[in-house]
Amino acid sequence: MSSHRSSPFAIGLTGGIGSGKTTVTDMFQQLGIAIIDTDAIAHQLTTPEGLAIPAIRQTFGNAAIAETGAMNRSWMRELVFNDSKAKKKLEQILHPLIRQQCEKQAADASSPYAIFAVPLLVESGNWRQRVNRIAVVDCMEETQITRVMKRNNLSLEQVQSIMRAQASREQRLAAADDIIENEADLSVVKQRVKELHEQYLKLAKNMTISAEQ
Ligand code: ATP
Repeated sequence: MSSHRSSPFAIGLTGGIGSGKTTVTDMFQQLGIAIIDTDAIAHQLTTPEGLAIPAIRQTFGNAAIAETGAMNRSWMRELVFNDSKAKKKLEQILHPLIRQQCEKQAADASSPYAIFAVPLLVESGNWRQRVNRIAVVDCMEETQITRVMKRNNLSLEQVQSIMRAQASREQRLAAADDIIENEADLSVVKQRVKELHEQYLKLAKNMTISAEQ
C-alpha cells in the first residue's frame, strides 16, 4: 500500500466569457478547495519578473516589453488579434509554462481535489486528458452579453466578437460531465456547488482508495 499522491483528483472548470467561472471558483475556494487559475498564471508569467518575459523579448523584440518590464499587453493584444502566426508563437511560449506552473500548484495542493480553471478548456484538446472531470458554468448567451457589457463597459459587437472566437455553448455543454447553471440567484448556484463538492469528495476518495490497492 502506498500513500504517495502526486496530485489530487482534478476537475477542469470552464465556461464562456462572463458565464460566472470566477463566481463559482470563489465558492469552491470557500469550501477549502485549491483553485489553479490558468488566467492568473498567464498574467503572472508576463509580469516584470515573469518567467515568460525573456522568451517574449527574444521572439518579439523590445517593443513587446513595456517600460515596467512586463509584457506590453495592449501592443501584444493588437499584434495577435491581426496575426495568427504571432498568436501561435506567443502560445508556444506561454502554454508549456502555464502547464508547468499548473502542475507545480497541483502538486502543492493539499485539498482532497483541485480545480483547474481554464477558460478555453474545450478549445484546447490537451486539457481534457489532464483532468478527471469537466465542469461547465453555463448561462444563456444573452446573459453573458449583458454581464460582460456591464462589467467591462463593452459594446454588443465587441462582446459578440469575443464570443465568436470561443467555443459555442453547445460545444461546451457537449464536453461537460457536470453543468453548473448560473442564470439565477447566487444562492441557487451555491447550493449546486455544495452538491458537486460532496460528489467530488466521494470521487476523490474512491480514486485514492483504488490507487492504494
Ligand atoms: P470571464 O470569462 O470574463 O473571466 P467569468 O466567467 O469568470 O468571466 P464572472 O466574473 O464570475 O464570470 O461573472 C461575470 C459578471 O457577472 C461579474 O460581474 C459577476 O459579478 C456577474 N455575475 C456572475 N454570476 C451572476 C449571477 N448569478 N447573478 C448576477 N450577476 C452575476
